[in-house]
Amino acid sequence: SQTCDVLIVGGGAAGIATAASLLRRRPGLDVVIVEPSERHYYQPGWTLVGAGVFTPERTMRETCRLIPTGARWIQDSVVDFAPEADQVRLSDGRRIGYRALVAAPGIKLDWDAIPGLSETLGRNGVTSNYRFDLAPYTWKLVQELKGGRALFTQPPMPIKCAGAPQKALYLSADHWQRTGALKNVDIEFHNAGAVLFGVKDYVPALMKYIERYGVDLRFNSRLTAIDGEARRATFAVTDADGAVSEVVRDFDMIHVCPPQTAPDFIRASPLAADSGWIDVDQATLHHNRLDNVFGLGDACSAPNAKTAAAARKQAPVVAENVISMLDGKALKAVYDGYGSCPLTVERGKIVLAEFGYGGKLLPSFPAWMLDGRQPTRRAWHLKAQALPEIYWVGMLKGREWLCAPDCVEPGVAPRTRAA
Ligand code: FAD
Repeated sequence: SQTCDVLIVGGGAAGIATAASLLRRRPGLDVVIVEPSERHYYQPGWTLVGAGVFTPERTMRETCRLIPTGARWIQDSVVDFAPEADQVRLSDGRRIGYRALVAAPGIKLDWDAIPGLSETLGRNGVTSNYRFDLAPYTWKLVQELKGGRALFTQPPMPIKCAGAPQKALYLSADHWQRTGALKNVDIEFHNAGAVLFGVKDYVPALMKYIERYGVDLRFNSRLTAIDGEARRATFAVTDADGAVSEVVRDFDMIHVCPPQTAPDFIRASPLAADSGWIDVDQATLHHNRLDNVFGLGDACSAPNAKTAAAARKQAPVVAENVISMLDGKALKAVYDGYGSCPLTVERGKIVLAEFGYGGKLLPSFPAWMLDGRQPTRRAWHLKAQALPEIYWVGMLKGREWLCAPDCVEPGVAPRTRAA
């Protein structure tokens, strides 16, 4: 079997960023990335694809072009883990050994958990910005709808980018308002949770848009089935006493955010906590039971908002701690739970939620420059112009000073920046 210094499972946002951060710190380290997909996606861009702002192509690059110099890419999937032997097994049966393992395989979108959904996606007015190939269909439906009922759904937490279901709603409603169709469109937001957004500081600004667009806000309402041909969605609605009833709604279009879980091969592995997520310490991102294992990104158990912004801050922390571990030193880099959710409340304005563990606000800018609790044009420009570049050119290249200068405790991190 082959072996390497650091084996990274998943070449998504977190995996590539960690590989780049590791090699910036220690060029010459033998880093292997196991990733099955030929294509890498900038998923935060899909919200803008669904609103006709970005082309789909802007959100996609070939994986081979993103593998950092010095890392090796194995195009395959990990199917299981043998931490006692410091090995993973790939789908073709190969075993790869490692000194340190970094698991970053993302989240599972569980489309099949909603009966009727998979077979009707992309047809019958059923769409989702959670898939590259479907986000353009969202924009098509939004442009075509001149009247009727539009449903937007949000499953139980945790999901990646908790704001994305309502971003799709606001940008659609904004288009209907601009074109004069809004008065003929009934919008319902079916949210399986009990709050509009998990951090209360951002809720007042969002509520103004709910009112502006005349959205019928339905909490504790969870999508349970879809009949595409009949254009009918079924919801389980829980009332204040906990009693559950079934509510059926006809629709002209529906934007679905699918239920989400840890990937199956993680849930079934020795890496998983009882919750199914990779069992890590929320500060160091070091596995709670396995000495030479780390986890980050959407698949890990840390209770941060699952976002690329979080992965951007986590990657240098993991890189730093992996190197400490390989050197036999104490792990010192810590992650503060930072995550960010740019809520696109209208075309041209964003409420920029930035917060860490416990809902503590962690704004990147002073309020006079950009107050994240208010809708601003500046935040829109950040999302539509700066953040994609920060992603491709900063985060995925391990240029932390470009994007995450405060990700590692000041004074703790020895920064070795390759020329
Ligand atoms: P991913 O980037 O999903 O990568 C996981 C990788 O692991 C994939 O490439 C996959 O192929 C690979 N993999 C899976 N299984 C295996 C296996 N068995 N073996 C090897 N590899 C495997 N974030 C923000 O910060 N801001 C936003 O505005 C934002 N908006 C979003 C809007 C939408 C519609 C969506 C869908 C997401 C949004 N996100 C946003 C969330 C962001 O995209 C994710 O949080 C981020 O991509 C997580 O990175 P990750 O590396 O953990 O997972």
